[in-house]
Amino acid sequence: MPRTIPLDKIRNIGIMAHIDAGKTTTSERILFYSGKNYKIGEVHEGAATMDYMEQEQERGITITSAATAVMWRDHQISLIDTPGHVDFTAEVERSLRVLDGAIALFCAVGGVQPQTEQVWRQSEKYAVPKLCMVNKMDRIGANFFNVVNEIRYTLGGNPVVMVYPMGAGESFRGVIDLLTMKALTFDDASRGLKVIEQEIPEEYLEECERLRVEMVEKAAEQDDALMNKYFETGELTIEEIKAGLRKGTIARTIVPTFCGTAFKNKGVQPLLNGVIDYLPSPLDVGVVASADNPDEKRNPDDKEPFAGLVFKIATDKHMGKIAFVRIYSGTLNVGDTVLNSTMDQDCRIGRLFRMHANHQEALEEAHAGDIIAVIGLSKSRTGDTICDPKNPIVLESIEFPAPVIAIAIRPASRGDNEKLGNALNALAQEDPTFVVTFDQETGETVISGMGELHLEIIVDRLRREFGVVCEVGKPEVAYRETIRHQVDGEYKHVKQSGGRGQYAHVCLRIEPQEPGRGFSFVNEVKGGVIPSEYIPAVQKGILKAMESGPCGGFPVVDVRGRLFRLVPRGRLKRIRFRRMCAPVLQAALPQGQPAASGAGHERRGGGARGVHGYGDRLDLLAPRPRRWHGRQGRQQVGARLRPAQRDVRLLQRNPHSHAGTRHLHDDLRALRGRALRTRRGNHRETQERRQSPRLA
Ligand code: GDP
Repeated sequence: MPRTIPLDKIRNIGIMAHIDAGKTTTSERILFYSGKNYKIGEVHEGAATMDYMEQEQERGITITSAATAVMWRDHQISLIDTPGHVDFTAEVERSLRVLDGAIALFCAVGGVQPQTEQVWRQSEKYAVPKLCMVNKMDRIGANFFNVVNEIRYTLGGNPVVMVYPMGAGESFRGVIDLLTMKALTFDDASRGLKVIEQEIPEEYLEECERLRVEMVEKAAEQDDALMNKYFETGELTIEEIKAGLRKGTIARTIVPTFCGTAFKNKGVQPLLNGVIDYLPSPLDVGVVASADNPDEKRNPDDKEPFAGLVFKIATDKHMGKIAFVRIYSGTLNVGDTVLNSTMDQDCRIGRLFRMHANHQEALEEAHAGDIIAVIGLSKSRTGDTICDPKNPIVLESIEFPAPVIAIAIRPASRGDNEKLGNALNALAQEDPTFVVTFDQETGETVISGMGELHLEIIVDRLRREFGVVCEVGKPEVAYRETIRHQVDGEYKHVKQSGGRGQYAHVCLRIEPQEPGRGFSFVNEVKGGVIPSEYIPAVQKGILKAMESGPCGGFPVVDVRGRLFRLVPRGRLKRIRFRRMCAPVLQAALPQGQPAASGAGHERRGGGARGVHGYGDRLDLLAPRPRRWHGRQGRQQVGARLRPAQRDVRLLQRNPHSHAGTRHLHDDLRALRGRALRTRRGNHRETQERRQSPRLA
């Protein structure tokens, strides 16, 4: 069966905002106006259709990105409702990775709030074109133009005002569409379904004309032909203005900005028109490239080999494991065998669904640009690529932040141990930011996540969905480490055991990155002689070595690894290069002024500006600057290296750095609930141990 909706009539969008800005309410209205929902479910009544999990309805927040498809003006909009709470940031990240466009929602009173800043930054990272919607215009103190200014100055966006609010607060009556220069009011009796078009009231005319000129100028700026026409005639047609604004929105040079109140049913339809007119279709987004080989590409075309990305795993009581997939190219049929190229495993497509908020529509096939639910990908995880087995490709995966908080957990009744293990496994597969570990020292099962609310909901789900009642320990902050100065390190591998022998040499630079940037890798080694598979091996090696930092063995984040020299001689396996990174980092990181921080606490207290920050806690946890011990120190470093690692050398030393101090270790160990095993009598030995880099 060929596709029923042409690719240029598909919009895959998400709504992103700070918690309580009204995402769920706006999504509900979108379902209502597009005819999917005959009745509006209100969030405060606990009846919103998009919030389908019981906990969400009780708490009135959106936890899971529920995907739903609606039709508007002959276009199919796939809408993903993303959560606004900072504890569910992974949900936002993974939606942004597969969306083509987004609506950034603001509260007309609160304006740019901490989480808006964070999601805005995340959407910039994934180059997602956006529209802005200033919601809650009916609230006392609502000020549309204040928010427009905040979008411009706080977020650095270039807002283009598309509608003018008639009134604000209690007197808010509707909006003036600056494109058609018509006043739109929304019929209360039909809950805003009927839009009444009238002439612009006299009082608003002058201001609207001024804003329209601004809008037309911004549209003209996006395209030379439009600019010429505008210069010559002083006017553009509505279609030309739309084309200019569309081009600018997709290029992310402008953000068309709307306003209204979802709750009072005003101003949602112009926003939906904006989604169709300005946000990109999968065709505008264009090709996607392989993560390892930029020349390997897929076009958004049904005839290309199939490629898709699993962006979410959910477990359903009746259907089992459901994988949500964004199809980038080709066609997927029920019964097809596809390759999970990330895991190198074949799987068979059992069933295909298009998800609506409260029901599923079974499909026989799905096409490029679609967002669908698949049953049969039982082994797949979030971020995996599935593709045509004859044309394998691995798409860039989704990056997730590391957990920031941990609690010990055990079942209330002993018999439930196995049940708990299985349930935790299922939940961890659904959610890449939820990690289950077993602490050998204490014999406890520890669950870690993005925040207390995140873990609370997990414990709640264990009870409701899996029937395991649990007891939990006190939350602990999962610390992360970073460095504040760049450091270089190298490693030589020499093996002379007859024959040609082996020689490998790797030089790396580790640089600090802005908080929240995670890890990035830059390869500066060029030339065709080096087998290309060695480069990703180095990247993997660095990532592996970053699992344990110099301050307290916590994961290292927000650094960039730069590979600037790589010499292979002889027959070398990839794994060799992977292993070579650990000693380089172990010796180099302590020299880069390492610091640990409980990112979770700042995220909550400090808001977005402190997200992933190394702010207040830095002084407490950062190693104190200490004088380098000169020759003695260096000898100690050398003496403690194992023979195979002796040739680790630091290319650059920082006189103020040190692997760690007693002060730091005390704090960290105490926080981790472990006794500090320092004996006074053996002070010198401890000193030595501290000065030496950590060895695996
Ligand atoms: P979310 O957390 O962003 O999904 O926000 P919700 O849609 O759950 O809305 C949070 C609260 O704000 C709910 O109580 C809504 O009823 C209320 N709300 C949403 N939109 C509006 C609006 O336009 N005006 C007013 N006054 N309240 C709204």
